Amino acid sequence: SWNHTPQQIADLTEELIETTKAFNDHIASLSSNLTVEGVLLPYIDFENESQLLINQLFFYQYVSSDKDIRDASTAAEELFSEKMIEQSLRTDVYEVFKKLQEKVDSGMLSIASKEHQLFLSKTMLGFRKNGLHLPEDQRQVVKSYLSKLKELCIHFSKNANEENGYILFSKEELEGVPKSTVDSFEQVDKDGVQLYKMTFKYPDIFPVSGFANNETTRKTVYLGNGDKCKANNVILEEIIALRYKLAKLLGFNSFSDYVLDETLAQNVTTAVSFLTDLRRKLTPLAQIELEKLSEFKGAEVFKWDFKYLENKMLSKQYQVNETEIAEYFPMESTIEKMLAIYEKLFDLEFQPVLTNTSVWHEDVRQYLVLIGEGSNKKFLGVIYFDLHPREGKYGHAANFGIAPGYAKRDGKSRAYPITALVCNFSKKTESKPSLLKHYEVKTFFHELGHGIHDLLGRTEVARFHGTNVPRDFVETPSQSFEFWTWEKSILKNLSSHYLTNESLSDTLIDNLVSTKHVNGALHALRQLHFGLFDLAVHQLEDDESLELLNISRLWNNLSNEVSLISSGNYTVDSYGSFGHIAGGYESGYYSYFFSEVFGDDIYYTLFKDDPMSVENGRKYRDIVLSKGNSEDIMDNLKLLLGREPTSDAFLKEYGLDK
Ligand SMILES: [Zn+2]
Repeated sequence: SWNHTPQQIADLTEELIETTKAFNDHIASLSSNLTVEGVLLPYIDFENESQLLINQLFFYQYVSSDKDIRDASTAAEELFSEKMIEQSLRTDVYEVFKKLQEKVDSGMLSIASKEHQLFLSKTMLGFRKNGLHLPEDQRQVVKSYLSKLKELCIHFSKNANEENGYILFSKEELEGVPKSTVDSFEQVDKDGVQLYKMTFKYPDIFPVSGFANNETTRKTVYLGNGDKCKANNVILEEIIALRYKLAKLLGFNSFSDYVLDETLAQNVTTAVSFLTDLRRKLTPLAQIELEKLSEFKGAEVFKWDFKYLENKMLSKQYQVNETEIAEYFPMESTIEKMLAIYEKLFDLEFQPVLTNTSVWHEDVRQYLVLIGEGSNKKFLGVIYFDLHPREGKYGHAANFGIAPGYAKRDGKSRAYPITALVCNFSKKTESKPSLLKHYEVKTFFHELGHGIHDLLGRTEVARFHGTNVPRDFVETPSQSFEFWTWEKSILKNLSSHYLTNESLSDTLIDNLVSTKHVNGALHALRQLHFGLFDLAVHQLEDDESLELLNISRLWNNLSNEVSLISSGNYTVDSYGSFGHIAGGYESGYYSYFFSEVFGDDIYYTLFKDDPMSVENGRKYRDIVLSKGNSEDIMDNLKLLLGREPTSDAFLKEYGLDK
């Protein structure tokens, strides 16, 4: 159920901390006759069984409409993380595992399950990454760094999520912005003048920066949005310095190397050269795109012009108007049809739960998910959709795993995954249903893809379940799924005009698809700016580089150099709302491109000819998606593709194959 009070959240968190401590005391007390059944299996079970409550209690901070509950959830997570750092740094537990590992290595003990073997080796690696092999005084320092880092990252995210800035505009200043957007703004009377309140949330800011004809309005939005989270600037400085010191203490060259050793890229050199190579290939293409934009504007293009000019160009040269296209994607029927695609590909069935009692807000809907056919049909898990914006709610679109699946100790039954999609689609109004822009259709299908990946997971151990895979692979499934939202046959089927029920015409689809790569290189370079910044601040190898680091300057310089579009000598510290850098994606932004290589390869190889190929859908499901991180991902990719992955499809997508 989803009706925890702030007090219950606090109490249950205390209880979790106590039971974890007691459990580790028990493990630590085992000294002789260590066995797999006595140490490893109970340890795995304990971890498996704790996940649901942990995830649930800390999920409230993103979705509860009650500020007290959100605060209790954030406070609980801070406390829990702090205490778990203590637990993960226990040398008494480490000593027991070290002895167990020695017995396994010497052949005195054997572990039957491959997954359990993997669990042990990853656990040992985790101990070393926490410095448990170091002398006492150094361990204390590691501990203080880790706990301070946790705290700083939580504050960074909280500042970004709860940011509630806004700008007041007059009606004239908003000229060009769709009427429905302007109508949705709160009106404020200021000295007898009606002003419109634009917040920095997506449904407000995208239409304004994308359509306001007044350049000053767009510039004001760009600058205001860029600096909306300045409180995070000093926090990030502290975070970067601590990460550097931590990595050094643990014997790594840089924080990036500390993070990347369990990824597909394996080290920072691979990641940097991958991005640098891509930047080199994209830059000439981007220069051509930028020239076209400035010809179109008839003047120099600035960052605040980019989306606006692109929209103008799209409607003029490509006859694509995203608001018009949106009329063909009423949210309800579109979502239903998207679910049907996944149902067919992976042999699933989504059953809406109509009596919505077990949800955290009245807007939330819940589906039971089944897999298989006829008498083989089995329960697979639960998915929640929380689709509309609310005050205090997480402001982006994302999938949150609530409960992982795993094999229960009895060897027969399983725990089922529960997963949630949190999005921010505008609500229906009296005259119109909620209409999805094409990018929202794509985003939803992408996030739903993460949800499906999570639901399809079928591992023994929760730690390897579903989307618990290396960061440079986690986007691969969703990136491959995005292709479906660009296929003509699929778009025909997904679309249904909210007044006439008509599908998109061939012409509209052709026009839409022709826009897929408009300014593709410029868009990619913008992402490369984030990726290169993220690696630049984390690959520092000596004290001097840290001394010299000026984050604001680095961010702004890279932004101008890499993205090619001028900021007109203004600087903005928009890294204050670069959530990834404090939210578990540190030194990992390169992953979006890295994993796309695999996603594109999978689509081109298995689905390009027939996006609804049931045979290939089943293969994808069984060889890759259901395996989570329980097997070698690269091996399984080779098995799925029938060869080594290549970047051919990826380069082709960016027009770089010639
Ligand atoms: Zn994603």
